[in-house]
Amino acid sequence: MWDCHCHLAQVEDLPARLESARRQGIHGWLSCASDRASWALQRELSRSPGVLLAQGLHPWYAEQGCEGLEKFVTEAVAIGECGLDFYRARDPEGRELQKLVLRQQLKLAKRWKKPVVLHCVRAHQALLQEMDAFPEVRCMIHGFLGSPADAQAWLRRGDYLSLGPHALSRSDLMRHLPLDRVLIETDAPSRGASLLDLRPVLEAWQQVQPLQPDLFQTNLFRFLGIERGMAGGRQFKG
Ligand SMILES: [Zn+2]
Repeated sequence: MWDCHCHLAQVEDLPARLESARRQGIHGWLSCASDRASWALQRELSRSPGVLLAQGLHPWYAEQGCEGLEKFVTEAVAIGECGLDFYRARDPEGRELQKLVLRQQLKLAKRWKKPVVLHCVRAHQALLQEMDAFPEVRCMIHGFLGSPADAQAWLRRGDYLSLGPHALSRSDLMRHLPLDRVLIETDAPSRGASLLDLRPVLEAWQQVQPLQPDLFQTNLFRFLGIERGMAGGRQFKG
């Protein structure tokens, strides 16, 4: 199983945590950046087997700016976590800053042909509007908890929706989302989640409909545009 969105650079006692996750059948992680300090920490992690990197700047840290991000992006399989969080930024200035930093990262995505991992809180319409300028950029909406109408709008773009521990009760999504566009994640260690919180998401989904755990790996690799065999250990380049 692959954890399609987490933040390994922030997980304490990481080697032991990865080992217990492996014992539960989790053998791959798309580890996403958060603030500027995480970029170099993430790069160190890329030597661990089964770890792929997304490098970017989370909207919570928009004021830190993206300068210097490009060289980290060239080594990563994706850009992120970036996006818009209008719950966090309530004033127009804060929201404009988030949009500015997002656009800079979407330009990098276009230039380097990388998919993007998006954070979206109370901002689906604004984020979809931003993406209109980048029709060629593929996205994953991580921690998706939106309405069926929000889901349809992303799916029409050709994007992917990732469900985490907070979607355990969203059997409506699990029942109706197209199975070739869905992913699962823990977002650990955000909001107290652990790397072991992946299996409950899989099991909740399996209660709604029969599906194989490797479905999510297939979808993740299609989203990333990489071959299955190429993510066995070392960071995939280019
Ligand atoms: Zn996250």
